[in-house]
Amino acid sequence: MDTFDNQHIWHPYAKIPNEIPTYLVESAKGVYLTLESGKHVIDGMSSWWSAIHGYNHPVLNKAIETQLGKMSHVMFGGLTHQPAIELTKTLLNITPDHLTKIFFTDSGSVSVEVALKMALQYWHNKHQANKQKFITIRGGYHGDTFGAMSVCDPDDGMHHLFSGVLPQHFFVKSPSIVSTDEALADLRATLKKNAGSIAAMILEPVIQNAGGMKTYNPQYLLKAKVLCKQYHVLFILDEIATGFGRTGHLFALEHVNVKPDILCLGKALTSGYMTLAATLTTDDVSNAVGTLMHGPTFMANPLACAVANASIELLLNSPWQNNIANIEEILSAELLPLQKYAQVKDVRILGAIGVIELTHEIDIHPTQKHLIELDVWLRPYGKLLYTIPPFIITDDELLTIINAIKTIVGEL
Ligand SMILES: *Cc1c(COP(=O)(O)O)cnc(C)c1O
Repeated sequence: MDTFDNQHIWHPYAKIPNEIPTYLVESAKGVYLTLESGKHVIDGMSSWWSAIHGYNHPVLNKAIETQLGKMSHVMFGGLTHQPAIELTKTLLNITPDHLTKIFFTDSGSVSVEVALKMALQYWHNKHQANKQKFITIRGGYHGDTFGAMSVCDPDDGMHHLFSGVLPQHFFVKSPSIVSTDEALADLRATLKKNAGSIAAMILEPVIQNAGGMKTYNPQYLLKAKVLCKQYHVLFILDEIATGFGRTGHLFALEHVNVKPDILCLGKALTSGYMTLAATLTTDDVSNAVGTLMHGPTFMANPLACAVANASIELLLNSPWQNNIANIEEILSAELLPLQKYAQVKDVRILGAIGVIELTHEIDIHPTQKHLIELDVWLRPYGKLLYTIPPFIITDDELLTIINAIKTIVGEL
């Protein structure tokens, strides 16, 4: 732990001085982080869903270096560049055909803000200015900025503290793996009563991520989309965590081929190299929105777009379906048996995501210390011990993560 860091720098969801030690990383390569002590640990977190190709990848490094030789940034107001044009062509090509327009931002939260703004401007320009609320399922996480916070879970979410200042939206029951009926009934009733004031529904498809790593029955998405259409409510999917293969499909919406009006992407978009996100939408929405009142300084940053282009090409040219299916198979075979422990409430596996939900909160400090002794970097939170490894991980490396999880669970 660095004392200067500990006295002066805020870390995510932490206080100064930090109560939980931070570990200084000297460098990273492949799936390994090298800590200050010289110890190598396997990153089971992909730096929060993002580093799908691992670190220090020669192809991605090269993409940035080449772009750096041309320009690292130019303003996007009145100017454009090939990395953004190429990335747009690729993203429109790999997402559902009806998505034809794109807005680039510098973080996932801001891409959610833009999605919400699009929905508000859409109804405003359609002379339905009363449609100013959003509807979402409980247990979601959409980011840390104010608009995004207002659609995160209002009770368990990280933003409970701000509930007094946040706009109040509609929260409906979330579906589970086994049942969608109750959740759909709640959605239908809420829409029936309030659709006149609702601009859009927003949700994470198939798995709710930072809000609790909960998977649900994807059929819910199709039925929720039909209801939204029926009640004139736009349908926004937040694939910031699930996009680019994580759930076994390139995008989680492909589990049921649901068609959103607006789609948010981020995190793995650049494989964790640069901060970049995107909000995609349809001709219908963009025509109604007209001038979109948003324009970040670092919009469509060329370095970020260049590395995103390289990362997507690398992914599509790799046997990613097989790699993720293999990760899923190993996670299932090794982690599902942990259900036998009294201290394990649930085990959830989906694509390259493995989640152990315990019956009680994990004491993060000693657990993390022990995980590092076991050569693994994981970041448990609340009752959850989970891994979202890079797709390039080998079976042996994955088993090292799994064995560390088993050791921790066995000792709780
Ligand atoms: C991480 C995340 C966000 C926020 O993205 P940032 O880049 O951290 O602002 C939004 N939605 C989902 C589903 C996420 O996982």
